[in-house]
Amino acid sequence: MVPRKLLLCLLAVLTFSGCAADDGFNKETAISLGVGVLQATTLDEKSVKQTASLASEKMDRKHKVAPDGSPYATRLRNLTQGLRNYGGQNFDFKVYLEEEVNAFAMADGTVRVYSGLMDAMPDDQVLAVICHEIGHVQLKHTYDQMKEMILTDTAFKAAVSVGGTIGALTSSQLGKLGQAAVNAHFSRDDELEADNFAVRTLNDLGHDPYAMLRAIETLQARFGSGGGFLSSHPANEKRIDNIKKAAARL
Ligand SMILES: [Zn+2]
Repeated sequence: MVPRKLLLCLLAVLTFSGCAADDGFNKETAISLGVGVLQATTLDEKSVKQTASLASEKMDRKHKVAPDGSPYATRLRNLTQGLRNYGGQNFDFKVYLEEEVNAFAMADGTVRVYSGLMDAMPDDQVLAVICHEIGHVQLKHTYDQMKEMILTDTAFKAAVSVGGTIGALTSSQLGKLGQAAVNAHFSRDDELEADNFAVRTLNDLGHDPYAMLRAIETLQARFGSGGGFLSSHPANEKRIDNIKKAAARL
């Protein structure tokens, strides 16, 4: 059974930051399902990442991936030079040919950018979004989210061994994990941290850190403050203020 709150999040039109996270919810559910705190904190990271890779493959089969050498794939490849191994983590970047303005990441270093987002933004802003997604991976937001989902869903929980590894999951379970990554609902603090990470990373790469701010402004202009990728949670004004402070600290 999918917890009701999670289901509501999965059903939300907004992606990426569309749902207010309730940090207490998953923990309480885990306890009510009999998952001990010890097990919840010792779920093997390597196993979670391997599961993320399987879910990523499943997502790639479900979506239309821009073929190597195509304009979108070439543009993304050029933008992500120097990021395919970053901070000790390998990243795998691909474009989904879909009009939706979206991007998402998974714990194994999967980053997928939709062509709709690449059409909506110039290079520096697309790169800012990519750095934001890399932040969710490096700051373990994607890992924590998948871990919590596995430990709070009865069907997934059954696949977790005492040692904290994850057994074979069905194709539909992997699809469910992948879809959860697309509809990621990170907390307000996680989003602000990922923005800060993007500001620092852009600066480290020799790019303008304010590209992160401009990416949010682009989305604000397109979707307004009430909806759309990146825009509603936390409020754009709060994010922009946070980005300005992070850039001032560089
Ligand atoms: Zn985010």
